[in-house]
Amino acid sequence: AKEQASIITIFGGSGDLARRKLYPALYQLYHRGVLADHFAVIGTARRPWSDEFYRDIIRESLQDEPNTDEETVASFASHFYYQSHDVTDADHYITLKNLSQKLDDQYEAKGNRLFYMAMAPRFFGTIASHIRSENLLSAKGYNRLIIEKPFGRDYDSAKELNDSIGAAFNEDQVYRIDHYLGKEMVQGLLALRFTNPLLTPIWNKDYISDVQITLAEKVGVEERAGYYETAGALRDMVQNHIMQLIAYVAMQQPTTFTPEEVHKSKNKLFAHLPVLTEEDAKRNWVRGQYLASASQKGYRQEDNVDENSNIETYVAGRIDLDDPRWTGVPFFVRTGKRLAKKATEIAINFKPLSHNIFDAVGSKEARVNRLTVYVEPEQGYTLTLNGKTIGADYDLRQDPLSFRYSQDVIDAAPEAYERLIRDALRGDQTNFTRWPEQEATWKYIDVVRKAWDDGADLAMYNSGSHGPAAADKLLERDGYSWAETF
Ligand code: NAP
Repeated sequence: AKEQASIITIFGGSGDLARRKLYPALYQLYHRGVLADHFAVIGTARRPWSDEFYRDIIRESLQDEPNTDEETVASFASHFYYQSHDVTDADHYITLKNLSQKLDDQYEAKGNRLFYMAMAPRFFGTIASHIRSENLLSAKGYNRLIIEKPFGRDYDSAKELNDSIGAAFNEDQVYRIDHYLGKEMVQGLLALRFTNPLLTPIWNKDYISDVQITLAEKVGVEERAGYYETAGALRDMVQNHIMQLIAYVAMQQPTTFTPEEVHKSKNKLFAHLPVLTEEDAKRNWVRGQYLASASQKGYRQEDNVDENSNIETYVAGRIDLDDPRWTGVPFFVRTGKRLAKKATEIAINFKPLSHNIFDAVGSKEARVNRLTVYVEPEQGYTLTLNGKTIGADYDLRQDPLSFRYSQDVIDAAPEAYERLIRDALRGDQTNFTRWPEQEATWKYIDVVRKAWDDGADLAMYNSGSHGPAAADKLLERDGYSWAETF
């Protein structure tokens, strides 16, 4: 791998995200040689840690990682420096600036700066404006900012956040993470769509009946209740991950696989998100909340949750794109916590042929073809075709053609954060989200939120079930059904 030189500053260096995701990802990049001699990481947070203590934390965070040996871990950790810092205090940015310059000289990092905001979003604007006012930006190499979700909580707050970031960074320096875009099979979906003559020409309303996207979680809200009470599944999963998956399913083929062309295609697609009315929103969106099971608390009994909370832990909806290529093709989406199993899947249902020559001889009906992309935990895809049942009669049956990556291969492949940080180091924005996408998706989501806040049913469902019946009825109403139950 080509080595990338950089001084990486992590705001929130003592936090959960940094320890669980970022340090392991940086380590794997080190193991693969993307990071080698010419890099240093500055971790900052308020607590007063020493470099030594910080390096112990780094080592600890790598305990369950593959490809670790004592020597490599030690040399990796030696690149880490800790700077106690309150992001609201201007003076501390001067300290950071000087430390960055010192480390840049020491490691010959070519003046490159990567800033990572791994903190509560309310600080993002403050950090960005200080990076600008205290001039932390390097004049020599690149300056890039990686920013985590949530990117705002509605259109207005997202715009405000974007404006404050924009004061310090240009759009082409901002890397907004949606970690679903770092997943193998989400990236793999584009290969399936755009390289197979079997699929590419029929990927439109003439041949596709409906699309179904499922992000099912088995876990409940866990220790994130404080945040979740202010968000809910619609903001937490639909505005970002589900919308990004819709874009990868529905966008037009980019002319080339470059960040510019991919984002051009995505922007065009998001421009076709309809302007919803509250009435449409109420009709086409269902919200739910999990109840207790024998062994688990219901959402309202969780710590830090209001006992009358109407926050949704489940969402199902029907999206109709305003795009002539997709007229009449519903995109059904659903996501929820405490469902029967964990699964992220994309199902494409194809339309039946208008004429089946076997009908006349009393054969069983041909079923629809379906392509299911398994994003996780299984990774691969299945295409179901109609075949003939063995024997003298002409009975049809469905044959699945399945491909799955083996667990060994999955385990050895880079994790989403590793891929995305590598992309940011290389200056590749393909798998990050841009502002126009945020803008369009928030505007859509805000209407659903508003419709619910003005009063809508909250469908209760049992923990460990496949979600509320209302989500099944939403499809049945229009003559569809979910490909699988969760
Ligand atoms: P966290 O564990 O609460 O970490 C927050 C960090 O910010 C800590 O290092 C804290 O350290 C620091 N901090 C707080 N106030 C500060 C201040 N005034 N000045 C300087 N540092 C301050 O949060 P997290 O779970 O890592 O989440 C970080 C971001 O990632 C959030 O936007 C979250 O939504 C997002 N995210 C997290 C995950 C995840 O798996 N955790 C997944 C997706 C997205 P001190 O207390 O020492 O200052």
